[in-house]
Amino acid sequence: MQIRNMATLGGNLCTASPAAELAPPLMVHDAVAAIQGPNGERRQAVADFATGPRTTILGTGEILTNVRLRAPALSGSCYLRQTVRWAMDLAGVGVAAWVLTDRTGREAAVQEARVALGAVAPTAVLVPGLESLLAGAPPTTERLGAVSAAASAACEPISDTRGTAEHRRHVAGVLAARALSIAHARAAGLWPGGLAPVNGRAPAAASSGARA
Ligand SMILES: Cc1cc2nc3c(=O)[nH]c(=O)nc-3n(C[C@H](O)[C@H](O)[C@H](O)COP(=O)(O)OP(=O)(O)OC[C@H]3O[C@@H](n4cnc5c(N)ncnc54)[C@H](O)[C@@H]3O)c2cc1C
Repeated sequence: MQIRNMATLGGNLCTASPAAELAPPLMVHDAVAAIQGPNGERRQAVADFATGPRTTILGTGEILTNVRLRAPALSGSCYLRQTVRWAMDLAGVGVAAWVLTDRTGREAAVQEARVALGAVAPTAVLVPGLESLLAGAPPTTERLGAVSAAASAACEPISDTRGTAEHRRHVAGVLAARALSIAHARAAGLWPGGLAPVNGRAPAAASSGARA
């Protein structure tokens, strides 16, 4: 029986679960949160909003009132998750990627790129060092391999019922390369639309795995 079918973006961020699934997509879009409190309004990058499992930067009397994100022309993004069950479960690993290209088409070079990981550390994390791996060229297989390695290295996972630390680290690397590739295709106008394929199958037919 479905016991929950609605939630808010603010509630998802303020809960500050390490597996909260809106944090990575917002982080790759450079999102900024507006916080209203007794001393007025302040703004903070969503990347700095959670300070640990179930803790945030919110002070006494403060609430999150809105979130603004960046989505310029020639940019594309993708979120993929690995989960044991499709419904009623958090992600075992969640990966968001965002790419800004210099033009459309197959030769579109990466200008900026970000990947954020969820459920693999006490808070969602941005993978460091991607600009030097990707900027100035399309994401070739070799470059995507380097993205995978960087994503796995950025993980500090635990082992629990949703997966072992080793499995999470591996899956984060695989999904990072896949999400980055799809984000690039979307930015470059090469993605036909709709959900990403899941292990080669149409998403609607799949019962587990990763999806956009
Ligand atoms: C069955 C089930 C399945 C779930 N599946 C997923 C999933 O697949 N992916 C996922 O990411 N999460 C999942 N969750 C977690 C859930 O989505 C989040 O807890 C939810 O997004 C919270 O949103 P809400 O609006 O209901 O917040 P609430 O539960 O109403 O609030 C959560 C906390 O945040 C505070 N809060 C809420 N809004 C604000 C605000 N604007 N400013 C300051 N504080 C605020 C509240 O006071 C409370 O302490 C699941 C939860 C359940 C019960």
